[in-house]
Amino acid sequence: MEELKSTITERRRNTRNKMFRYIYDSEKPVSKQQIAGALGYSLPTVHQNIAELLAAGLIRPGEVQKSTGGRPAVGYTVDEKIRYSVGIAVSASQLRMIITDIKQNEIAFKRIDLESADGSDTGEQIAGELDKFLAENSIDSGRLLGVGVTFPGVIDQERDSIVLSPTLGMKDISLSAVRKPIPFPVFIENDSTSGGAAEWLGLTQKEREEDFVYLFLENGIGGAVFINGKPYLGSCGRSGEFGHMCIVPGGRQCNCGKKGCLEAYCSAFRFTRDLGITAEQFFEGVRAGSEDYAALLDEILDYLAIGINNLRMAFDCNVILGGFVSRLIEPYLPDLRKRVAARNTFGDCAEYLKPGKYPTKAGMMGVAWHFTEQFINEI
Ligand SMILES: [Zn+2]
Repeated sequence: MEELKSTITERRRNTRNKMFRYIYDSEKPVSKQQIAGALGYSLPTVHQNIAELLAAGLIRPGEVQKSTGGRPAVGYTVDEKIRYSVGIAVSASQLRMIITDIKQNEIAFKRIDLESADGSDTGEQIAGELDKFLAENSIDSGRLLGVGVTFPGVIDQERDSIVLSPTLGMKDISLSAVRKPIPFPVFIENDSTSGGAAEWLGLTQKEREEDFVYLFLENGIGGAVFINGKPYLGSCGRSGEFGHMCIVPGGRQCNCGKKGCLEAYCSAFRFTRDLGITAEQFFEGVRAGSEDYAALLDEILDYLAIGINNLRMAFDCNVILGGFVSRLIEPYLPDLRKRVAARNTFGDCAEYLKPGKYPTKAGMMGVAWHFTEQFINEI
């Protein structure tokens, strides 16, 4: 496999990159003629770049199916296995890991129960588990672009710190200390921001033209604001902390130390901490006819509707739900939409409220994409 030529003009690199992206975005192999037609390049230009991408092992030949019959033309497609990325989500009791290929397909997933995640040895724990995970799946570490890690907390890249994670009970944890034991490039991101990035990836090209707000429902509640396909992080990297919007002044105690936050009413801790059962068990109980559970669900949906309507009032765009609680409340989405619509000052439609495509793995998907995107940008 040859290295891609790097001593080329910016214009030539641009052409090569556009061509790779076109092949990457095409679901089926595309012929040189199709590429030339779609991008407006001459056939010799396409030919030269295809030769270079083939020699570097970035694309491989495949058959273009012709509708008119006859001999199929040779086409080109991205070789999914050229590189891999890892996404890891750190939560209060677990590490969850996925390996993705260059096309963002999930290659492997693993969940590991943790004794505790207080931040002091998170890097070591990740390094040890990652080593096993890669070996179990025979991943050539030379092809691993990097390891993305999400935390449910405020991350300040400039100060190199996990400033605060009420869910994990962490404060001022150094990002470098987490990175150090991991023998690969490491990128650390807030879980909701990464989750939003995964949802953005799952949108069609047309849908990507619209901005959206992402509401992430897990043990904590977070979120992200995506404008022009990029997260709006805010002045202090704390945008989208929707879990700590006050919805009941002086209300229930929140993990953050304040009272009446959305998180205190609608997070999975309502089941796990308050009732001592899993979120799944709670919803099974609702289905089995428990009146107490039904009353609690009714309360949760009402408060969630307040939070969602507040987001709609503030941002006037689609609201995408994510996190494992969103998967469990999906059967109640029509009900939730009704409650949300009833609160809307300007209209009675709540179709803007949408279920996410990756309710349980969005954070890992999004943070793994960080390295894949970087790789594609550099072709
Ligand atoms: Zn709070």
